[in-house]
Amino acid sequence: MRPRPGGDDPSLAAPRRDRDDARDAALVASVLDALPSPTVLIDGDGTMLLTNSAWDSMADAVGDDLLIRVGGNYFAMALNMKDDDVNRALIADLGRLSRGERRRVSTDYALPHSGGVIWFHLEASPVGRSGRIVITHTDVTARVLAERASSWRARHDHLTGLPNRAHLHELIDAELQRPERPRLAVLFLDVDGFKDVNDSLSHDVGDELLRELAGRLTQSTRAEDTVGRLGGDEFVVLCRDCDPEDAELLAGRFQATFDRPFQLGAHTVRLSASIGIAVVDGSGGPELRSTDLVRDADLAMYAAKEAGRNRVRHFTPDLRSAVQQKVQLAAELRGAIDGDQLVLHYQPIRHLQSGEFSGVEALVRWQHPERGLLPPSEFVALAEQHELIVPLTRWVLATATRQAAAWDAAGLPLVVGVNISAHHFAAGTLQDDVAAALEEAGLPPERLVLELTETSVAEDPERAAAQFAGLRRSGVEVSIDDFGQGFSSLSQLISLPVGMLKIDRSLVVGADGPTSAGAAAIAAVVGLASAFGMRTLAEGVETAEQLAVATELGCAFAQGYHLARPMPADQLVEWMHARELVRTS
Ligand code: C2E
Ligand code: CA
Ligand code: CA
Repeated sequence: MRPRPGGDDPSLAAPRRDRDDARDAALVASVLDALPSPTVLIDGDGTMLLTNSAWDSMADAVGDDLLIRVGGNYFAMALNMKDDDVNRALIADLGRLSRGERRRVSTDYALPHSGGVIWFHLEASPVGRSGRIVITHTDVTARVLAERASSWRARHDHLTGLPNRAHLHELIDAELQRPERPRLAVLFLDVDGFKDVNDSLSHDVGDELLRELAGRLTQSTRAEDTVGRLGGDEFVVLCRDCDPEDAELLAGRFQATFDRPFQLGAHTVRLSASIGIAVVDGSGGPELRSTDLVRDADLAMYAAKEAGRNRVRHFTPDLRSAVQQKVQLAAELRGAIDGDQLVLHYQPIRHLQSGEFSGVEALVRWQHPERGLLPPSEFVALAEQHELIVPLTRWVLATATRQAAAWDAAGLPLVVGVNISAHHFAAGTLQDDVAAALEEAGLPPERLVLELTETSVAEDPERAAAQFAGLRRSGVEVSIDDFGQGFSSLSQLISLPVGMLKIDRSLVVGADGPTSAGAAAIAAVVGLASAFGMRTLAEGVETAEQLAVATELGCAFAQGYHLARPMPADQLVEWMHARELVRTS
């Protein structure tokens, strides 16, 4: 700083200082006026000594009752806006600043007024050692609103506007941390068959469904509950101050919201949900975390699904070990598919008119290193639940087509049947997977038959029709497996481009004589099938009697233990040769 003329001469000091003060004040006033941000100069008691024109115009805008002017008290004004800890701390900090105990005070500050809220960044600096403070208030409303919006977005699901996974965990943890150890329940809801809707009706329709569902769930809860979306079709509901019975009632209300079909554009969709409940009864230790609780509810939901969908299950500790075993087995299965543990057995199929064995059905088994040879009933459903069915089926398709090509080369032309799961059907890759296997193996498409169960086709006949037509065009035949288990969908099935109906063993079992009820049922199916140009195969033929009835009634093919059991590929060749020898000798 430039030294003042006159230095420290006390006789000259007083009048000169007055003049200097006046000049300084004018200078300060013009500097402040040049600042775009509303700015005030106060003394250590908060008295407003100067305001700039930006401050004055803001006071004009928001009203004199909020923003005071020169002569008023800044501290009183702040307390008048809000007498809270934040403002009292701010005033104390400004006092310290004026006494030289701090160098700077800066904070963000909300000013509510009739037209909304203005956010300020407040920056206070001391004016030398005068005890005065200059405070600038920069309007940061736009920045704060943008930050708030982005933090809101970070905590909410963009599709439904509900709290997202991270925020749900925060809310549940906050509840668990409450000192009085609250009672609460977490409900885990998963829509049954959502993936199928999503895959078949476009993802926009799937999104619409989720939004509609979010609304229905929210309407079924009390104000103190929180509905959130974990992702996909998984919703979690935090039910505060809630015991197991309350939670079950709420789950019942959720299920009831599914009674009404979902109207999605031109489609009417009927759905159900599986719900798992985990409850905290106030006795849990402080170490219980939201992630544990949500996982428990998830396990209970999983158990509800396994029990056959559209159900509610409470979490019990034994679920954990049961599910862990399944998860372990699923992990092993994943390795088994990639490794060399799956095997195919082939069951011969006889053409009844000629008596020739013209085909085989490929049936998968798992050569488990510890548990031995496992039948499909032990792992196919598991593969479906753990999204392993597509890789499993690809392995089956590749192996079966390669085997058929090898038999072909060895002078044994056989048609090979491969079982396809409805899940694969829904995945939409079936046509490509089939084409890839045929090309890789060099097998003509007419040597492959895909077997789809009646129920899987009946679930979504429209989609079935489209995929069947595509497969048919490529020359691959499709047959309906286990026909007669459902019977519900006959009219839908006959309109599909299906080559063959495989009559379920349950019907064949009853065919123990030409006048039996089973025989009548088979006759009806054969008649219907031939009217629509389809052939029939009698499954599970265990006796000579059943074989005779099937032949008599005009079934084209038969398959069953009476003819041959499923067997490994190398045994099949021997078996065929042995039969040839018997026939020709
Ligand atoms: P499926 O497609 O109906 O296959 C026929 C099942 O009946 C086979 O059981 C076969 O061994 C058995 N079977 C054949 N003849 C007779 C008989 O005369 N009497 C009796 N009681 N049973 C007979 P398996 O091999 O245990 O397969 C069971 C099911 O597992 C199959 O039923 C099929 O739905 C499924 N499966 C088998 N392999 C595969 C596969 O590669 N992929 C898929 N997705 N599912 C498969
Ligand atoms: Ca089959
Ligand atoms: Ca079958």
